[in-house]
Amino acid sequence: MSEALGGEELKIMRKAGKTATSILRRLKKNLRAGISTKDIEELFDSYLSRYPGMEAAFKGFNGYPASICVSVNDEIIHGIPSSRIIKQGDIVSVDVGIKYKGLYVDTAYTYTVGRVSKVAKKLIKVTMKALRAGIRRAKPGAKVGDIGAAIQNTVERHGFSVIRKFVGHGIGRKLHLVPEIPNFGRKGQGYQLKEGMVIAIEPMVAVGDYQVRISDDGWTAKTQDKSLSAHFEHTVAITRWGPKILTH
Ligand code: MG
Repeated sequence: MSEALGGEELKIMRKAGKTATSILRRLKKNLRAGISTKDIEELFDSYLSRYPGMEAAFKGFNGYPASICVSVNDEIIHGIPSSRIIKQGDIVSVDVGIKYKGLYVDTAYTYTVGRVSKVAKKLIKVTMKALRAGIRRAKPGAKVGDIGAAIQNTVERHGFSVIRKFVGHGIGRKLHLVPEIPNFGRKGQGYQLKEGMVIAIEPMVAVGDYQVRISDDGWTAKTQDKSLSAHFEHTVAITRWGPKILTH
């Protein structure tokens, strides 16, 4: 269960969150056609090693074999870095988690490589917008369903679909904590958010249907209809002053 965290703990998470963001920014600069998804992981590892005490949170989590997830085009999440080469026109979702002083942060972005299709651009824009809409609802007293409904409405209004199989989560002394934060739902329903809780809000959006297929590697989740998918995530603290994004 997600416990209320104090100012000192939030400060630690903020530091880890800032690091995650700055590493993602550097990964984005290096992201180009011709490099492999494994190259992206190696860059992440080398950047992270410059920050004493910080560790890749995903490595070994539930048996996950890599430091980060890199999911390309129809891959939604949990893409295992490999020899797969990034091409012009790809969209690439990079999901990173950092553990620091016993606390976790989790954040993801979807990037474009070269010129991408109109629909890919729209998908990324809508997914970012949906994340912002969800974050705005993350206040003490709000229900988890308020966040899900805001995300779902934003996505469906633009004709896309929300992945159901994977959801956001509480985060803090563990990477995944109760409550689950679905990207769909009804306003006023579900668990009530309290001051000091920290949650990872992470809409995963598909151009087509929301049905998911898991690849033979046992991890990579793809859209069943092979449509493009995007993923954005922030770790957000619930404070009396409103939502505070720790991964900025
Ligand atoms: Mg997450």
